[in-house]
Amino acid sequence: MRKRQQNRSFMPVMLVIIAVITVISICLVAILGFSAIRYIADTPILANTNIPVFAETTDSVEVGGYAEEPPDWIIMFPEPEIEYEELPYVPNATYVPYIPNATHNFPAPSPFALLPFYIVENSQAYAYFHVERPYLDYEEVVWKVNVFLHVPFYSEIRIDNNPNPLLVSPAFRLPYYFTPAELVPVNEDNPNIMATPATVEAFRSLRTAAIADGLDIAAVSGYRPASRQRVIFGNQSDPYRVPAAVARPYHSEHQTGRAIDLWGPTPSGLLDATGPPSAVGLWVAANAHYHGFIVRYTAENSHITSFISEPWHITYVGREIAKYIVNNNLSSLEEFVGRNPGVTLP
Ligand SMILES: [Zn+2]
Repeated sequence: MRKRQQNRSFMPVMLVIIAVITVISICLVAILGFSAIRYIADTPILANTNIPVFAETTDSVEVGGYAEEPPDWIIMFPEPEIEYEELPYVPNATYVPYIPNATHNFPAPSPFALLPFYIVENSQAYAYFHVERPYLDYEEVVWKVNVFLHVPFYSEIRIDNNPNPLLVSPAFRLPYYFTPAELVPVNEDNPNIMATPATVEAFRSLRTAAIADGLDIAAVSGYRPASRQRVIFGNQSDPYRVPAAVARPYHSEHQTGRAIDLWGPTPSGLLDATGPPSAVGLWVAANAHYHGFIVRYTAENSHITSFISEPWHITYVGREIAKYIVNNNLSSLEEFVGRNPGVTLP
């Protein structure tokens, strides 16, 4: 009798123990399953995506084995953050990746991870930016985060250590003391205007085509060292306004030797920026890409580039990329790089 009673009094205790073990098991299975999903979500789909390698710090950077220090005058220009403004977006329905190296054979939990230009390191930023701007589609979220357009201009700056950097912008600056590997005069008789050999060759091709169409173009500015850029930048009445007219030192395409400013029949001596565009301006906008140039700053992409419309400023990116940007109606070089991370100049 006693034994039986003892057994009965143990029954509820046993039931409680079994219940606790069951709950713990369910929790363990749930935690393991969740971890597996997180692992898949954070695993890069493209093993062969070339992610650009940038220096971790903007204070110093290794170039040719020497630790670089910023020139003294850099501290004269504290860089205020500028709020990013959003404009309506028209998706490119017929977009085809520039490098078709993407193959996705299994469903990924993150919608961003399905895109060929997804970068695993940015997965959190994609999620935050998407919550912040729910009206953007996945592609726009991803390419904008890839080129730091999800944060205010100049609030996050990366140094591109590529000897021939493709994108120079508020978010991507050149290393201190950057100079192009080679510079040649744009016009044989004027050594004051220099550019890289490929840029000069493309410019001569563009000019020959313009002359054949009964127009003429001339270069008024090419390569500019950072010291010169600093003077031009500092001479403005309001250097930090956005959209900007003059790039900050180390953020200017002119320092790459691949940007050319074109002469125009205006008081400033540049192609028209206000009023109806000139015949030369229209011709350049329609033909530059056949020769490897893009009109870098337009009224439509001002909110992406941070610069005013500059119909005179053309940038050499090579025929392949220039034609690709125009044929795919990409808004900007930022969008091209954001959609094709790791792509370098040919
Ligand atoms: Zn320019």
